[in-house]
Amino acid sequence: MQVLFLFAALHLLILNDLFSQAPKKIRTIVVDAGHGGTKDPGATGQYENSLRSKEKDITLAVTLKLVAELKKQLPDVNIMPTRTTDIYQSPTEKAKLANEFKGDLFLCIHADSGPLKTGKRQIGTHTVTRYKVTYTGKGKKRKKKSTPYQAVEPLYEYFKYPLTRNGTSVWIFAAHKTSDKLKAIVGDENFEIESDGVDSVENSLDFNTPEGRTIAAIYAKRYQERSDRLATLVNDEVESTGRQALGVNQRRKGIWVLQATNMPAILIETGFINNPEDERYLNSEQGQQELAESITKAVKRYKEQVENTNNISPVSVPEKKSTEPPPALEKRPVRDSKVLQVRDANIKVEIYDDGEVDNDIVSVYFNGGMVIDKKTLTAKAHSFMLNLEQGKANELVLYAENLGEIPPNTALMIITDGVNRYEVRLSADLKNNASVRFELKNNN
Ligand SMILES: [Zn+2]
Repeated sequence: MQVLFLFAALHLLILNDLFSQAPKKIRTIVVDAGHGGTKDPGATGQYENSLRSKEKDITLAVTLKLVAELKKQLPDVNIMPTRTTDIYQSPTEKAKLANEFKGDLFLCIHADSGPLKTGKRQIGTHTVTRYKVTYTGKGKKRKKKSTPYQAVEPLYEYFKYPLTRNGTSVWIFAAHKTSDKLKAIVGDENFEIESDGVDSVENSLDFNTPEGRTIAAIYAKRYQERSDRLATLVNDEVESTGRQALGVNQRRKGIWVLQATNMPAILIETGFINNPEDERYLNSEQGQQELAESITKAVKRYKEQVENTNNISPVSVPEKKSTEPPPALEKRPVRDSKVLQVRDANIKVEIYDDGEVDNDIVSVYFNGGMVIDKKTLTAKAHSFMLNLEQGKANELVLYAENLGEIPPNTALMIITDGVNRYEVRLSADLKNNASVRFELKNNN
């Protein structure tokens, strides 16, 4: 009975934590230079005039620069490389290291390669000895005779055409591989449960129970969402350098190392080693540094998003306080209505006066519940978190309490869903309300 109660309580605590998206501090980031050693050199530049570079060297060079950049820009975070020299590590060892370091993020650095076409060209001629075969006689007396002669023939050379495909792509573990991620969570003896600001509750869950498995499944889903979020940011940052960004992908067969780690994990294919332009870029100090800086920027943005979810005091929407909508709200029709598609059920809203600050006073309602009660809009934001719910209108209504000095009453809302930032301008007066309705865009 007691045990049951404990589970129920823990379950509630964790579910509550998940729904409030209580952030975890990013304390450790593990960076893996893909491949390594003589046993696993990875892909090679192998087309004509290639630098013949090896993937393991590129991944190490980028990783060392990335580690330095992360340390410089995030001095409070432990940055742990899986290797800093040319050594062999099996994927199992890499994943094990990441789990032992108790990473909050796992960044795998790789370089891509694609299949090459073979070409043939004549490089000259050569003389060869051929034989002309003739027969003399008939029947049993038939005899074969070979007469040698010299022939001049073209001499060919075979070569690999370089790849035309180029660019950086980011990979996350496949959605249908969530069960593997679950195994990594379940198999991790030091699995820590995030709970509201408190560091961790260690080893409190038995994953052999249905409750434990449910919680692990929730975590796997969350890791996937977070991996996707970080991957999107990396893609964004790479794109902003002017480099070809190939987007966020999920490999059908899955990527073992991403599934075997108990943390959000992404794999960055920095470029194609058998594309000449990419190969030069990947081997250049400038290219390696640019990649390191782009990834660092993305990690910083991710860290801010994940950690700052907690810094804004969430205004709880009084859901069950009253089933009746506030009377004042009903009297005015919504005239200025907008629809916004967001990518996460948890969104942050910051509301400002749009344009000149003229003492506009507003109240804000969400799904009929009051979020802001008669506040003056200024250049400083009133912020609150909203949790979108299935089957609800998810409508945020702006109600003008006055017209300010310059009518109408205008508000600028900055809405962030963890991935994107949106600006919505609403204008209300004493006869009409304004609203924005949120639609949850499916990530998959
Ligand atoms: Zn690789």
